[in-house]
Amino acid sequence: MLTGKTALVTGSTSGIGLGIALALAQNGARVMLNGFGDVDGALAQVRRHDPKAVHDGADMSQPAQIEAMVRRCEAELGSCDILVNNAGIQHVAAIPDFPAERWDAIIAINLSSAFHALRAALPGMQRRNWGRVINVASVHGLVASANKSAYVAAKHGIIGLTKVAALENATTGITVNAICPGWVLTPLVQTQVDARAAADGVDIEEAKRRLLAEKQPSLQFTTPDQLAALAVFLCSPGADNIRGAAINVDGGWVAQ
Ligand code: NAD
Repeated sequence: MLTGKTALVTGSTSGIGLGIALALAQNGARVMLNGFGDVDGALAQVRRHDPKAVHDGADMSQPAQIEAMVRRCEAELGSCDILVNNAGIQHVAAIPDFPAERWDAIIAINLSSAFHALRAALPGMQRRNWGRVINVASVHGLVASANKSAYVAAKHGIIGLTKVAALENATTGITVNAICPGWVLTPLVQTQVDARAAADGVDIEEAKRRLLAEKQPSLQFTTPDQLAALAVFLCSPGADNIRGAAINVDGGWVAQ
């Protein structure tokens, strides 16, 4: 379905981004990965579907590196047709205890990076009159939780940015949408599970159960595969007129 299309997925060496990159490659897209950590492992998985998949090590807190990565995607893959803004980090603390440096990093990586990537990639999409931008926001773009000030602010911001970019391109073949996952058991959330287990003095399974019971009525984690299936759908012709949407995949979290 995506044969002939190219995709840049930020933060795709792990978790949700890796799941989306794999699904786009399985559907025929040429893929550029980005992110830190197990780069070789991620590349090996994606290369089973796209043998020419490449990785760019841009730090998503650095605007010049983001622009250079988009230019490299256009030069080496031929275009940047699908942009998935997924890279993200978390820090959990009440506002008086929240380090200012963590606030700046979360706003840079979880929000400003999407603006810089969009700014670099949109002109090429507009020339070709086709593009798909998928911003991985969160239920925390729609509702808040205590102790996540920077994350909630960034995720609310990226949903606003999604709407503006969708409107600016509403009469074109470029759609811009946000996906809003609830709890997904990735390294980002495992840290919070571990912290909960330590705080409550319970084992990891019980900590997972408590986290889910608090927020996610299905009592099931959303999976990267489920989010990837939605991302593939958003790239399909069936989604041509979905514009500026924030789609929650959250086991009922924001229905409450
Ligand atoms: P993860 O920790 O598994 O993956 C994060 C990815 O971002 C990794 O590839 C990491 O290397 C990359 N990254 C981090 N800082 C970077 C930087 N400065 N430059 C480049 N890459 C960087 O986390 P995840 O849970 O898969 O999160 C992915 C996205 O999904 C994030 O935007 C997160 O906010 C969002 N999200 C996650 C959940 C969840 O429950 N896990 C829920 C809602 C939204």
